[in-house]
Amino acid sequence: MSIPLKNCVSVLSAKCHGDCSSGHIEHVSIDSRSSHNGATTLFFALIGPNNNGHQYIAELIEEGVAAFVVSYIPEGLEDKATYLVVDNTLVALQKFAIYYRSLFDFPVIGITGSNGKTIVKEWLNFLLSPDFNIIRSPKSFNSQVGVPLSVIAINEKHNLGIFEAGISTVAEMEKLEPIVKPTIGVLTNIGTSHDEGFANTTQKITEKLKLFSHVEVLVYQKDERVTPVIPVGITTFSWSFTDKTADVFVSHTKNANHKTTISYQYKNHSHSIEIPFEDRASIENAISCLLVLLYLNYDNETIASRMSMLYPVQMRLEVKNGINNCNLIDDSYSSDFQSLKIALDFLESQNKFQKKTLILSDIFQSGLSDEELYGRVAKLVVANNIQRVIGIGETIVKFKTLFTNCIAYPHTADFLADFENLEFSNETILVKGARSFEFEEIVAVLEQKKHETVLEINLNALSYNLNFFKAKLQPQVKIMVMVKAFGYGNGGLEIASLLEHHQVDYLGVAFADEGISLKNDGIRLPIMVLNPESTSFSSIIQYQLEPEIYTLRGLHNFLKIAEHKNLQHFPFHIKIDTGMHRLGFERNQLPELIQTLKGNTRVQVKSILSHMATSDDGAHYAFAKQQIQLFDELSSQIMTELQINPIRHILNTSGISNFPEAQFNMVRLGIGLYGVSNDAEEQKFLENVGTLKSVISQIRTIPAGDSVGYGRRFMAQKETKVATIPIGYADGISRAWGNGVGYVTIKNKKATILGSVCMDMLMVDVTEIDCVEGDDVIIFGESPTVVEMALALKTIPYEILTSISQRVKRVFYR
Ligand SMILES: *Cc1c(COP(=O)(O)O)cnc(C)c1O
Repeated sequence: MSIPLKNCVSVLSAKCHGDCSSGHIEHVSIDSRSSHNGATTLFFALIGPNNNGHQYIAELIEEGVAAFVVSYIPEGLEDKATYLVVDNTLVALQKFAIYYRSLFDFPVIGITGSNGKTIVKEWLNFLLSPDFNIIRSPKSFNSQVGVPLSVIAINEKHNLGIFEAGISTVAEMEKLEPIVKPTIGVLTNIGTSHDEGFANTTQKITEKLKLFSHVEVLVYQKDERVTPVIPVGITTFSWSFTDKTADVFVSHTKNANHKTTISYQYKNHSHSIEIPFEDRASIENAISCLLVLLYLNYDNETIASRMSMLYPVQMRLEVKNGINNCNLIDDSYSSDFQSLKIALDFLESQNKFQKKTLILSDIFQSGLSDEELYGRVAKLVVANNIQRVIGIGETIVKFKTLFTNCIAYPHTADFLADFENLEFSNETILVKGARSFEFEEIVAVLEQKKHETVLEINLNALSYNLNFFKAKLQPQVKIMVMVKAFGYGNGGLEIASLLEHHQVDYLGVAFADEGISLKNDGIRLPIMVLNPESTSFSSIIQYQLEPEIYTLRGLHNFLKIAEHKNLQHFPFHIKIDTGMHRLGFERNQLPELIQTLKGNTRVQVKSILSHMATSDDGAHYAFAKQQIQLFDELSSQIMTELQINPIRHILNTSGISNFPEAQFNMVRLGIGLYGVSNDAEEQKFLENVGTLKSVISQIRTIPAGDSVGYGRRFMAQKETKVATIPIGYADGISRAWGNGVGYVTIKNKKATILGSVCMDMLMVDVTEIDCVEGDDVIIFGESPTVVEMALALKTIPYEILTSISQRVKRVFYR
């Protein structure tokens, strides 16, 4: 891209502040951390719910950025750069994308629907890439921001675009349509879910179809909900399993090895192809792709051979435990420039190790010459602080001198043969390769031998839940997130990193050791320690943790050390007991507390807090109100007498939901972040975060009269198929969950636990389930939920989550 700045001014109808008459731009950025930011970057300062791009302008000017699209000019920077002032920077970004799109004239496939957008996009990219230089949306960049950014990445070499667009309410799609300006439309599965944001299904479909207002053809599954709302004048190319009037009439049959034959009639001819999937969603997505290929006049032979190679689209970048204490990011399904950028960003965000290695195959379909492409890759590598590159492929071998520290091999096999001579330890390794390079073999040698039982943590769900609770807060109210007990069993560091990314204000842990380990791993957020033992004050100070002080004894100890270390204004927190009777100063101790602190500059009261005993229980509403009232009174007394104005906070998760009037200046979010609410209504709005998974070790069928497990506590009344799962009470599954009380989920069906839960294993009834050894088992997650388990086990979700043993591996994904 090379666009004169003055054109941008007119495209955006912006007011220019500074010199807009000269200069041109080559990049557009909205991310202050992007490695592209420089003299030819136009930076759009977007304002989001958690972030304001205007805050980074000073920093960006230092990095050399000279032109900004803003809604206001930050104070003191008026003369430091050129500003294009607009009302709304997001609208400006979209206007820019519309203009930029208009500079290109090649076919563009636009995809929308409720489900399957990203998969259809990735598959079409795979199916068409032998014949086109394709530009496509990275990952699922399909929002009001993602779509313009995707389009702005087009360059002169591309000759086909594939973009997805998603909307959550009315009046959004008409903004995306002129940006994508698709020529071929694909409507994927219209589900029944996600109707929030729309009055009804018809409205939802009507809104989605607005993406296709100007297409030359619309591919869709003929459906009585959709057909009537397609605007007249749009040419359709439809398929159906049931309606013979569709352009393509399709049937499917299941084959061995999880494959499916798709037979179709088109223009009075019958054909068939095979795909390596058997689930309904994949079949429908594959048919959407099939229709695009037919529309583009591909012959059946090509279609059949390419579709037989469709692969599972990896929607997540998975961090795995590698050999020699390495971390492994497995992205072994694709290699193109855009997804490389995303993967490198992700790699950069992993701050566990300084040392970073990239294992990269040849890159396909960039639309650039090899020199230019690998030159750009080399720049990215430097910008992302990657110390070592291992290139694999005949092309990358030729360009290895572009990188400072690069070993290259022509083939994956050569790398594997040399593996013993390469050292991998204490580093993060990104494995990124096109499918044909079979990098899964590299992942296999680098990965630590796998545990069969894992707790999968959905980081997106966590972000979602955080925002759900944030939305309940008045502006200015801060948020502390409790990550004690290893993030309620979900993983301390990874969750703390995500929270840091979301810029929460504080983290809370129970003991000093937990805080020290987070600080050691590079967490910079302030951390409050709920229950510091006096012996830990030294290390608390050394690691810049902030203790909660709740007794006079603790206060005196802390002050003694503060004196000894000659501290000034070291932050700490005062806990007062308002009725929980666990920790905290009582009313009659306040005079001594205040007396001791008066005039003391060694320490600084950062906040005053208390904890509620019954915020989750309407039966104790009056008691809860009384606690809040007492907190207000006692904390005010401290503030008045010490003449200070610290943060005040009393609400935990259920407090946030039930006592919105008592937010003071901060709240402490705990269990809600992890997707659990004490309120059944609210529970519906939260997303499940943790899924405990295992696999079937063995299956056997026993006759009536035989028993299962210790003590013969299950007796088969009839012939019973029994599956053994390698997870037991030593992993945190209560024995009370056995003997017919609890169940696991296999192939979406419930399998009741037979007999007693053993230390490392349990057995379940799979008589009615079509399953084989090695199949996945869900111990908890969507079903059963931890809430449901807690009820049956007469405990609370907190106990179940925090009981999952540390020997169960945690896997994080987005
Ligand atoms: C654990 C804890 C919280 C969070 O409670 P949730 O019910 O999980 O939201 C808040 N404050 C204190 C003092 C805690 O110990």
